[in-house]
Amino acid sequence: MTQLRDTAGNANWTTRARAVIPGGASHEFRYRQPHAIYFTRAKGAEKWDVEGKRYIDFKLGAASQILGHAHPEIAVAVARQMHQMPYTGDCHPLEVEWAEWLCRLFPSAERVRFTGSGSEATMLALRVARAHSGREKVLRIDGHFHGWHDLLLTGAKPGTDTPPSLGVPQAMSDLTVVAPPELARIGEILAQDTGIGTIFVEASGANYGSVPLPDGFLQGIRRLADDLDRVLVFDEVITGLRWSPGGRQALDGVVPDLTTLAKIATGGLPGGALVGKAELMELLSPLEVRDGLTPPVSHKGTFNAAPMVAAGAIRAMEILSTGEVQAHADAMAARLRDGFNGVFARHGLAATAYGNSSTCHLYFGGPSVTGLDAATIRKVPPGLVKGLKDGLLERGVDFMSHTSCVTGLPHTPDLVDEAVAAFDAVIGDLIRDGVLA
Ligand code: PLP
Repeated sequence: MTQLRDTAGNANWTTRARAVIPGGASHEFRYRQPHAIYFTRAKGAEKWDVEGKRYIDFKLGAASQILGHAHPEIAVAVARQMHQMPYTGDCHPLEVEWAEWLCRLFPSAERVRFTGSGSEATMLALRVARAHSGREKVLRIDGHFHGWHDLLLTGAKPGTDTPPSLGVPQAMSDLTVVAPPELARIGEILAQDTGIGTIFVEASGANYGSVPLPDGFLQGIRRLADDLDRVLVFDEVITGLRWSPGGRQALDGVVPDLTTLAKIATGGLPGGALVGKAELMELLSPLEVRDGLTPPVSHKGTFNAAPMVAAGAIRAMEILSTGEVQAHADAMAARLRDGFNGVFARHGLAATAYGNSSTCHLYFGGPSVTGLDAATIRKVPPGLVKGLKDGLLERGVDFMSHTSCVTGLPHTPDLVDEAVAAFDAVIGDLIRDGVLA
């Protein structure tokens, strides 16, 4: 296919971008020095920048495109809906079908409310949980990520109980208790602080599993929430339809009260969803009255369940419901982890590639992350992260955030092996340059 070539290149686009977009990027993780990379085409597990350079993609749309870029069946479904009825702001049959799919797949889903993003889903979850419990405080786990908004930012940076941003009111931190992923400690905190009504957990462990949860943690926190009468929310924005068609909860057989979804659950298109037990979710219904309010919990949003998104998402649910895509993606991630660990062994490095499901994370501080806390695992020298990522980009491989990867349907053994060879060369360069020892 003909490439869209821009001879002025990425540096020029960065100059133009920084004049109109703060830092030249619409998400702080897309910022890069000396310039960002601007993409014009993506297909399957590959993408091409404005200079026509090709990259093997282990980011896959911030983990949203498990089916690969421009999957033909999703593209047809979205295009057809664009012609028929892109968006009117009304109820429509596709939102019902999409909600029925989520209720079939996710054990906790008795009702569904669609949102505009994953962040909006976690905002709504907390509002519903607060309304149901009648208690304002939330317990969240150190380093777990639940979106960019004020409500759950405190504690998102591992090892801190302050928000990693200016502009977040102190009141938010006052309402947030940050706990390590230790059941005994969490049990003590909950027993002492009766103001806590909600527990929020990223179902993979922090940052799509880069900080794995201890075995039995999800079962244990379910028991604690039951015993101490708290609302339990699983954030499955990443794990939903990736760990299994029904997310981490279906795989582990642990049913939270509320679940937040986005990314794959919206067919790799913009949007999100809150699903959960009817008793809580019906608080969103205008058929309910509570304390003189109807609906008891207010929720709006122009693009909630937009028909174009619903059309793509339904097709994605149909494809992903069998689990075959996930099995392939898992196998490709295992191959990637094995390949990277082989590179570490060949170079005599005490480092490890690890991860569950279709993820791969790197830790350079030792041969295993077992028993390490979030702050330790995430503390990689910035020069190493930059050197690794720059070297990989130079050789046509793009990782996700930090030093992590996700895989999907279009990754093949050949693409994985090509990426491992590039990784081998980059690690060799970093050792030669004294960045790694
Ligand atoms: N929760 C988790 C676990 C996430 O990984 C993300 C985004 O990466 C979010 C919530 C926020 O979703 P969004 O970026 O769609 O607002």
